[in-house]
Amino acid sequence: MLSGCSAGLRLLVLRRCVLLSRNVTSGNPGRAAAVDGVLSAFRSICGDDGVSLGETVREQHGKDESVHRCRPPDVVVFPRCVEEVSALAKLCHRHQLPIIPFGTGTGLEGGVGAVKGGVCFSLRNMDQILDLHPEDFDVTVEPGVTRKALNSYLRETGLWFPVDPGADASLCGMAATSASGTNAVRYGTMRENVMNLEVVLADGSVIHTAGRNRRPRKTAAGYNLTNLFVGSEGTLGIITKTTLRLYGVPEEMVSAVCSFSSVQAAVDSTVQILQAGVPIARIEFLDEVMIDACNKFSSLSYPVSPTLFLEFHGSERSLEEQVNTTEDITQSNGGSDFQWARDAETRNRLWKARHDAWYAALAMRPGCKAYATDVCVPLSRLPQIIVETKEDLIESRLTGHIVGHVGDGNFHCLMVMDPSDQDELHRVHLFSQRLARRALAMDGTCTGEHGVGLGKRSLLCEEVGPSVIRVMQSLKDAIDPNNLMNPGKILL
Ligand SMILES: Cc1cc2nc3c(=O)[nH]c(=O)nc-3n(C[C@H](O)[C@H](O)[C@H](O)COP(=O)(O)OP(=O)(O)OC[C@H]3O[C@@H](n4cnc5c(N)ncnc54)[C@H](O)[C@@H]3O)c2cc1C
Repeated sequence: MLSGCSAGLRLLVLRRCVLLSRNVTSGNPGRAAAVDGVLSAFRSICGDDGVSLGETVREQHGKDESVHRCRPPDVVVFPRCVEEVSALAKLCHRHQLPIIPFGTGTGLEGGVGAVKGGVCFSLRNMDQILDLHPEDFDVTVEPGVTRKALNSYLRETGLWFPVDPGADASLCGMAATSASGTNAVRYGTMRENVMNLEVVLADGSVIHTAGRNRRPRKTAAGYNLTNLFVGSEGTLGIITKTTLRLYGVPEEMVSAVCSFSSVQAAVDSTVQILQAGVPIARIEFLDEVMIDACNKFSSLSYPVSPTLFLEFHGSERSLEEQVNTTEDITQSNGGSDFQWARDAETRNRLWKARHDAWYAALAMRPGCKAYATDVCVPLSRLPQIIVETKEDLIESRLTGHIVGHVGDGNFHCLMVMDPSDQDELHRVHLFSQRLARRALAMDGTCTGEHGVGLGKRSLLCEEVGPSVIRVMQSLKDAIDPNNLMNPGKILL
């Protein structure tokens, strides 16, 4: 960062940086001294360019896409390899500094906020795709590789990685939050698609959760540590490599849009399509508020009513069968305006509109911020929870759009609000808590894919109960006894 400066200027900037770090840690003189004391050692590991105390950089790394308040770390480091991550972690451990891993910052539950200050490990410089085994359908990537980067790398191979949270998130960040998205109904979530992880623990030691270089399609060997770290949201270690399952690019794809007169009819169709054994690749629900916003934002003209976006993958023959069965089912539930798209351009336009739902919702109230919360319930409870949630939105005087991965019983409520309006913020908070409790009362979970982060810690206690929280806390204590890894997240 300072490499182009003269020696005098360099000194001045470094002094200013140290002052800045004193400012940010002024509430905690012990940590300020620890940060000051460790900076030159950080620089000797990852170079001057690899350490930043700049206010803007710290702020960028202290917030994600949620409405949680920005909590900047004291310093941001940019390691280039696992050895550097390990050496930096050892220093943090010696000086008892919190460590917060950072992927691309697209999280929705405040996971990257440095609630206790400390050192943000931004992993974007570790962006190598390391081991591709096309014949075994797997690949290993570093934490700076995003899902779009991996899929463009794979383009010529006939393979792809289907887990798709919409945002171009880092694959290790996706492992850390157990992300899923539109393709999960067919291909599973990160939990089903991560085969091995390389993790640097808080004391700097490096482990491979399934054993070094192991990549079997299945294993019954001991505790499933891979799935302990998937979804651990940076609270157990820094993921520095992930080995992922890949899939063959489907021979053919067909997309469709279908409108319904009620939420019940759309969800009934979904359940019946799944019961009929149609291997549907995507089945997404948009309520009338959401489709209206998408129409306006993406220049579409779908009927303003509960809508399903669907996608089918397979051979020409199997697609015909899938499409016929689905059309029969949707028609028997009163579905109308069924529109098919086989060509890539129309399909891409449709799914781009779905992925732009967040921006479409935002565009309905310019100058406002969006807050997305997600819950997941057993499929049969979906119509009831969506209907009750829509009533609650009206009673709470909130602008809310419902959009969901309906094939998994998972949906999001995107609320658009004025962040300077304290009363509206309060109503959003109360509404989100009620929505999560409604999902719990219907045997569901307070989050199907966004994670717990800061916002859902007490809801997690309600969901799993005190004895499970005790086991989770014991695991955390065993792996990170000094509570250095992303403190203040998941567990209260
Ligand atoms: C428009 C939009 C739509 C979205 N839709 C979906 C969706 O459909 N499904 C879904 O699942 N999510 C969705 N998300 C949320 C988000 O994309 C995911 O949570 C994603 O997995 C976060 O990855 P990231 O790299 O941005 O992580 P970050 O935001 O950087 O970090 C998230 C958490 O993971 C930890 N972390 C990050 N990298 C590592 C690492 N290498 N090692 C250890 N811990 C790490 C962080 O400390 C933090 O706690 C959406 C987000 C946006 C903005």
